[in-house]
Parts: sequence; C-alpha cells; structure tokens
Amino acid sequence: MHELGILMAVTRQVMDFARENGISEVAEIVLEVGEGTGVVPEYLRTVYPAAVRGTMLENAQLVLEIIPGMAMCENCHEIYNVIQSQGACPACGSRAKEILSGQELNIREIHVPG
Ligand SMILES: [Zn+2]
Repeated sequence: MHELGILMAVTRQVMDFARENGISEVAEIVLEVGEGTGVVPEYLRTVYPAAVRGTMLENAQLVLEIIPGMAMCENCHEIYNVIQSQGACPACGSRAKEILSGQELNIREIHVPG
C-alpha cells in the first residue's frame, strides 16, 4: 500500500528531527496532503497506528490538512478545483491548465507535549 510507504518516510523524518533537536516525545504531527497526490487521507489514518507502533511516535496524533487541487485554465484563465471538475475547465472545457496547488505532501508542524 502506497500510503504505508509514505507514512514510514514521514515518521522517519519526524524521528530524525526529534533526535537532532533533543525532543523525546511528540504530541502531534501535522501533515499537508494535496488532493492531486492521489494519496487517500482515510488510508493514511487507517495505517498510521501500525506505522508508529513501538516507536517514540506511538502516542503522537496525526493531523491531516487537505490542500485542494487547484489549477488555472490556460485558455480562459478560470481558476478551478481539478478533482471536482475532473481535470477540465468548467468554464470552457479545456484541459490545458497550470497546476496551482494540490501536489503537496509535507510535514507542516510537529508539536511537542505541554
Ligand atoms: Zn477555461
């Protein structure tokens, strides 16, 4: 499963960061997930407990911030949601577009307890 691999990479990065900064416990990980990445947030939530079991992140909450997949039409400059419009401009029907957002897959914040 794609999502498990992503989570393993994310948790490794968080643990490296914690180690480098002398952090012994993490309360919350805020992860930005772009709609255009194809990553399914439900799957991330489902596989997360298995990904952190037995690690220092076992008690850390996973918070997902979904970034809408937006694009600008190259034909008429309409800005629209790519997922909702299934990849075509709702104003003129063109598929020529510039992706503005939705490709994110970033650790945005790490919160420590207290
Ligand atoms: Zn258009």
